[in-house]
Amino acid sequence: MAARQPQTLEEAIRTYADPEVCRELVIGLRWPGGKVTCPVCGSDRARYLARAGVWKCAGGHARAKFSLKSGTPLQNSALGLDKWLPLAWMLANSTARVRSVEVHRRLGVTQKTAWLMLHRGSHAIEAHEPSRGLDLSDIYRESKKRDPGEWPAWAGAGVARGEMVEGAPAFERFCRVLQAVLRVPYAEMRRRRQRKRRKREPS
Ligand SMILES: [Zn+2]
Repeated sequence: MAARQPQTLEEAIRTYADPEVCRELVIGLRWPGGKVTCPVCGSDRARYLARAGVWKCAGGHARAKFSLKSGTPLQNSALGLDKWLPLAWMLANSTARVRSVEVHRRLGVTQKTAWLMLHRGSHAIEAHEPSRGLDLSDIYRESKKRDPGEWPAWAGAGVARGEMVEGAPAFERFCRVLQAVLRVPYAEMRRRRQRKRRKREPS
C-alpha cells in the first residue's frame, strides 16, 4: 500500500499519525518475522492487551508488561511514535543538519521537546554498533568522519551532511535507521550518555 511507504516528510507525518500503522512497522523492524518477544526474558509467550497497547509476558517475572518502546532508546518517553517516527525520518533523510527549530515547526512539539528529541535520537544513533547486525555506514558513507566528539554535528546532521548512499529510497533509509536505533538497548544508551556527561563535566 502506497500510504504505508511514505516518500516525503509530510507523508510520513500523515502516515504515522495512525498508531496501527506505527505498530505494524515497529513490530516488523524490531522483531523480524513479526514474533514479538519479551525484552526482559526473551520469551515469545506474550499476550497483547489491546486497550493498554502493551504486551504481557507469561514468564512470571517482574516488569512483565512491555510496550513497543520498552527496552529501546525510546523507553520512558512520553512522546508517541507519531512524533518519534517522523523524527527518525528527518534524521535519516535530511541532507543538512536537523535543527530543533525545524523539528519544533514540522512536528508541532515545543522547542524544548524538539531539542530533547534530537538529543535522544543522536545518542541512540551514536550507541548503535555495526556488530549488532546493521551497518549504518550502508546508509552514511563510511569515508566521512564520524567523530563521536562531534556528535551534535553529525548526529543532528541528519546523521548526514549529504553523506547518504545515493539511490536508496527515502523510506528504506528511514527503515534502516529506525531499525538500527530500535535495536540499541536502552540501558546501553544511558550508560554511554552518562559516561559522556562525566567526561564533559570533570569534577
Ligand atoms: Zn518475559
